[in-house]
Amino acid sequence: MDFLPELQQALKKVQAWQDTYEPFDPHPSMQVDDTAMARAVDQYTRRLRGNYPFFHPRYAGQMLKPPHPAAIMGYTAAMCINPNNHALDGGPPTGKMEKEVVRKLADMVHYPDGSLGHLTTSGTLANLEALWVARELHPTWAIAISDQAHYTHERMAQLLGVETVSIPTDAAGRMDMMALEEALQEHKIGTVVVTAGTTGVGAVDPIADVLELRRRYGCRIHADAAYGGFFALLAWGDAEGPAALDADVRHHLRALARCDSIAIDPHKHGLQPYGCGAILFYDRSVARLYKHDSPYTYFSSDDLHLGEISLECSRAGAAAGALWLTLQVLPLAADEGLGPILQACREAAVAWHEKLEEAPEVQTYLPPALDIVTFFPTIASPTARAIGQRSRAVFQQAMNSKEVPLFLSVLDVEAEALARQVPDMTIDQPTAPILRSVLMKPEHATHVDTLHDALLHHLQEVEQPSPAS
Ligand SMILES: *Cc1c(COP(=O)(O)O)cnc(C)c1O
Repeated sequence: MDFLPELQQALKKVQAWQDTYEPFDPHPSMQVDDTAMARAVDQYTRRLRGNYPFFHPRYAGQMLKPPHPAAIMGYTAAMCINPNNHALDGGPPTGKMEKEVVRKLADMVHYPDGSLGHLTTSGTLANLEALWVARELHPTWAIAISDQAHYTHERMAQLLGVETVSIPTDAAGRMDMMALEEALQEHKIGTVVVTAGTTGVGAVDPIADVLELRRRYGCRIHADAAYGGFFALLAWGDAEGPAALDADVRHHLRALARCDSIAIDPHKHGLQPYGCGAILFYDRSVARLYKHDSPYTYFSSDDLHLGEISLECSRAGAAAGALWLTLQVLPLAADEGLGPILQACREAAVAWHEKLEEAPEVQTYLPPALDIVTFFPTIASPTARAIGQRSRAVFQQAMNSKEVPLFLSVLDVEAEALARQVPDMTIDQPTAPILRSVLMKPEHATHVDTLHDALLHHLQEVEQPSPAS
C-alpha cells in the first residue's frame, strides 16, 4: 500500500476545505472511547483476514480484485464528504464528474454524441433499467435471453412481469443465431439481450449478426457488457499477434456501438470498488420514460439531473469521483491507461491456455475469447461424474494449500458440451463442475508459470477417483 502518503494528502486537503468553515464541537453523543475503538478496529481487521487474497496473482478464481489506488483515493476523499449523486444539489462536483465519466464510457464503445447514461450501483441494476425501458416501449412483448446470460436477467424479467424466451447457445457459449431467428418468428419479442463477455467463460455473442435481425424484426437490442465492455478498447485498437482478440470477437465488440442500450461494470474491469455499474442508452429520448413528480427532489437548476434519468434514488457520489480520478491517470485508450491493463490480462489467458493445451495432465474446455480460461483434469476412463469430482477436489485442495496456494473457481457445464472435448467420456450425469480461472489482473501475465506449476502440483496430489466411487 505505497499510496498511503498520497491518500493522507488527499484527506488532508478535504480537511483543509472543511476548515474554511467556522469550527464547531461534535456532539458528545458521537464520541467513542479510544480504547473501545482500538479494540473494535483490531477485531475488525482480524476478521478481514478471513478473505481470500484477491490482490495476489495466485488468486485467479472469480471476478474479484481490489480497486486501483487512484480509485481508493478518489472514493475515500469524496466519501468523507459523502455527496449523493441523486441530484446535482446532492453534490455538484461529483454530479458533473459522473456526466464526464459516462461520456468517456460512451466514447469507449463509440456511442454517438446524443447518447444518454448514468452510473448505477451494480450491473444488475443497469440491466434492470435497460429491461424496464424495454418493457415500457413494448409492454406486452417478450425478452429473448441466451441460456448463458447472467442469471439475474431472468429474475429482473420476473420482477418486471415480462415473459422471457430462452435462446440456446453454441459450443463456444454464444447465442445460437438460427434459434434466435426462429424465436423471433415464433414469439413477439420486443428486446434481445446479447452478452459481451459471459460471466462463465467470457463468450461474446454474435452482436453484429443480431443487429442484422433487428432490422428485419424491429426488436431492441440490449447488450450486457458488464464484464466484457472494457474490451471494446482493444476491439477498436490495432494490437496484433497471438494475444490480440480474435477477429470475430473484435467485430462483435465493435458492434456494441449500434446496440440500443449497454450495461458496463466499472467495478469489474474498470478498477473500481463495488457500487459502480453503468447504463448507456443510444437514444436519449428514453429519458421521457423516467418522468416522476416527487416533492422531495429539490432541483436548483435546469441542467439534466441524473436522478431524473435513474431508477435508483441515492447513489454514492464517491463512486463517480473514484472513476473520474482513475480515468484522469489511466485513460480509456487502447495504447495507454486501461488498454495495456486489459491486454496483459488477455496475454495471461492466451499464454496459460497454450500451456494447458500442452500438458497431458489437463484438458482445456474452450479457448479464451477474453481473459477467462476453462479446463479440467485428464481422467483415465472419463465420466462426467469423475471429471466433476476431480475438478472439485483440485479446486479445494489448491485453495487450502499453505505451501502452494492457488485460487481457482468451478464452473458447471453441460455433460453434452464436455463430451465434445472428451469423445470417449461417459455421460453419467447431466452437468459437471470443471475448473475456471479469471485472469483479470495484469500481474497474471507475469505469473502464468506460477499458476501452471501450482495447478500441476495439485493435480498430482489429488488422487484419481476409483471408477467405483
Ligand atoms: C457481473 C455481471 C452481471 C451482474 O453485475 P453486478 O454488478 O454483479 O450486479 C451481469 N451480467 C454480466 C455479464 C456480469 O458479468
